[in-house]
Amino acid sequence: MVSLVQAHASRQSGQASHRVVACLGGDQTVLEERPTPVPGKGEILLGLRVVGFCGTDLFKLDSDSAGVGTVLGHELVGDVIALGPGVSGFAEGDRVVVPHHVPCGECHLCNCGNETMCDVFRENLFEPGAFADTILIKSRAVTFAARRLPDHMSDEAAVFMEPAACVLRGVHRAGIETGGSAVVLGAGSMGLLHLLVLRAAPPDCRVIVVDPVAERRALAEKLGAQYTAAPGEDAAGAVRAATDGLGVDAVFDTVGGNQTLEAGLELTRQGGTVVLFAHAPDGGKAGFDLNNLFKYERRLIGTYSGAIKEQAEIFDLMDKGALDPSPLVSHKMPLDDFEQALSLVRNHQALKILFTPSRAGAEA
Ligand SMILES: [Zn+2]
Ligand SMILES: [Zn+2]
Repeated sequence: MVSLVQAHASRQSGQASHRVVACLGGDQTVLEERPTPVPGKGEILLGLRVVGFCGTDLFKLDSDSAGVGTVLGHELVGDVIALGPGVSGFAEGDRVVVPHHVPCGECHLCNCGNETMCDVFRENLFEPGAFADTILIKSRAVTFAARRLPDHMSDEAAVFMEPAACVLRGVHRAGIETGGSAVVLGAGSMGLLHLLVLRAAPPDCRVIVVDPVAERRALAEKLGAQYTAAPGEDAAGAVRAATDGLGVDAVFDTVGGNQTLEAGLELTRQGGTVVLFAHAPDGGKAGFDLNNLFKYERRLIGTYSGAIKEQAEIFDLMDKGALDPSPLVSHKMPLDDFEQALSLVRNHQALKILFTPSRAGAEA
């Protein structure tokens, strides 16, 4: 099948092409035209519907860790526009959500439940990446991780499957029991996504969201936070009031840095868990009181991604209407406006930005 995008590009150049946001080193990017990938055995080609702008994309740009020519973007919903040989279970026109990382499911790390540490997990199964008009999905992702969307699930909800699965993994690992309590540090899009997943997944979890910005605290309350507080004494007081002075079962740190981590440990009850869910600069160090761990049997864990089982669970929660992260979407813009999105995020003027196909791609 030749898609409309391909047909249009073919008319112009004789070869199918599409547009991608390519990294140029540092935080510089350019919208450039490239040949459209052709799906091979077991692969599918998606036409972009929406792709989320994730903190990890921003981190890679700011830390200059994306090589020149790299195409970032991994939170993807697209339409199947071409199928490679041997693909079953999908048809042209299907609306699909698919993650870029898929574990092998067979190695020691996978067998121990550490699928996100599996050797092949970090392999990018998107070509070239999701900040593109069309995206080729490699066969392992097609076979094990791609899901067709039911009509009632919006693009704006489904695009959160991958990031919400990362969050759910941390929530599971924190081991919050029925009627438990949690603090989320930070009410950016990942903090608020923690709130929504905590409200949808463990039964009756009370959530306190801590953020310095009043507007974000108000949004957190609207989205189901029982309490909100500013960092510092305000947060400590809210936690004492909500837990009879015990401290919460788990703290989710979506802000990062040593100070926030220490604050998180202070808000956790004895025997509780702090989940670190934030990038640190290379070599970033923590300096908390060791007895906060040893004497009070706290746990400090990191969660960086989600695996297929968490994606399946998130998909179910969204399918049955228990989880709808779409209110977190603050902006939708074509790939052409990538630079503008970057500045909106940096200036804290956006919550979650979704990109749609480039103007040329959309017109094709
Ligand atoms: Zn992400
Ligand atoms: Zn594995």
